[in-house]
Amino acid sequence: MRVNIVKRAKKLLTPALGWDTELVIRRGRGAEVETKTGKKYLDFSCGTATTNIGHCHPKVVAAAKHQMNNLIHTGGVYFYDSIVKLSEELKAITPGAIDMFFFSNSGAEAVEGAMKLAKSVTHRPAILSFRGAFHGRTLGCVSITSSKVKYRKNYEPLLPSVYRAPYAYCYRCPYGQHRESCAFECIQFVRDIFKQEVHPEQTAAIIFEPVQGEGGYIVPPAEFVRFLRKLSLEHGIMLIADEVQTGFGRTGKWFACEHFGIEPDIIVMAKGIASGFPLSALGASSKIMKQWTPGAHGTTFGGNPISCAAATATIRAIRDEKMLENCEALSVGAFSRLEKMKHDNPIVGDVRGLGLMIGVEFIDKDGAPSATATDKVLERCLEAGLILISCGTNGNVIRFIPPINVTPDQLRRGLDIFEMALQSVTEEELEVAHA
Ligand code: PLP
Repeated sequence: MRVNIVKRAKKLLTPALGWDTELVIRRGRGAEVETKTGKKYLDFSCGTATTNIGHCHPKVVAAAKHQMNNLIHTGGVYFYDSIVKLSEELKAITPGAIDMFFFSNSGAEAVEGAMKLAKSVTHRPAILSFRGAFHGRTLGCVSITSSKVKYRKNYEPLLPSVYRAPYAYCYRCPYGQHRESCAFECIQFVRDIFKQEVHPEQTAAIIFEPVQGEGGYIVPPAEFVRFLRKLSLEHGIMLIADEVQTGFGRTGKWFACEHFGIEPDIIVMAKGIASGFPLSALGASSKIMKQWTPGAHGTTFGGNPISCAAATATIRAIRDEKMLENCEALSVGAFSRLEKMKHDNPIVGDVRGLGLMIGVEFIDKDGAPSATATDKVLERCLEAGLILISCGTNGNVIRFIPPINVTPDQLRRGLDIFEMALQSVTEEELEVAHA
């Protein structure tokens, strides 16, 4: 049956769409999924960082069912309460002055909306993004994405007036520096862009991920993020925080920006917002939003009543069940075990992250990125019942992202499997794969 579904899927679905595994899943509950043949797996991929509070959380399911029995669609023709309730919840948890929202269906759509809002409000053309960024797959989003060249191949020419600076990736500093002794050359690069390439007064937005996701789970130093905030304020540039992957408790706070003590002008949210129901949002202060004139943007499906009800239930469950606290507490133990694994296993070069958004970077014996070691570890984990996925420009980072309400026992089991997988990879295997 498993083979059947995979075979049929491969015949019917475009190969452009990649799949991380060949598992056929029939149900998911919390941190676990079950295949059609009844085998259970710990899911520490969370459907690519989306089921942050686990699969099919009962409160989310109940809210969605209730909404479904009453109203499924409005298409912007009439008002409904689930979109208002959700906006009130978001207003309470989003940073600073953010108090107005636009809802859409996917992360990419919300990023597009954020770019349009910034351009519309500032009347400026240019956008600054970062190398290694991933913002989605529409043509606008691809223009500001550079985590992997495959996302851009064959789609040029893309949006004009996009400028790109290196991200503060300290483990592999583009300037060969070390964080302890560097002079923040990455910050100087941004300054130089505004001196040499595009005038800051021509720049509508700086868009960044507070922790780079697809690019390799990279946590920048706080100085870097604070510099972006300061610079954008100085020049009236909209600072857009793409919190699609970092939001909704993933890093132990509602949003990762909070770790750096900054408030963006525009925040982009998706993935964990509705526990898997399709929904995304962008938020800004009413001062900014009110400059977006009626008809300047719109949607048919965005803010779907069921997705909004599921999102409200998700936010309330995170709060009521103290999941941010759980995430922060369990993160400490996870980091200390992973650090120990790094110490004991030379194929692990770096362990980094915030909360339960943890990246483990794999290297070869010369310290170069090793996708081979990464793939071997992923394979072994899967065989032993743990689903993990990779990221990084070189495909050599494993994302360790259990649900934020994972239990201590589930986390321990996941870490045990991960450790066993690391230890099982032999030098010979790596060399054979390289040959
Ligand atoms: N922005 C970030 C930071 C993401 O991680 C993603 C998806 O992985 C997106 C945007 C695009 O989201 P979607 O795939 O829902 O369009």
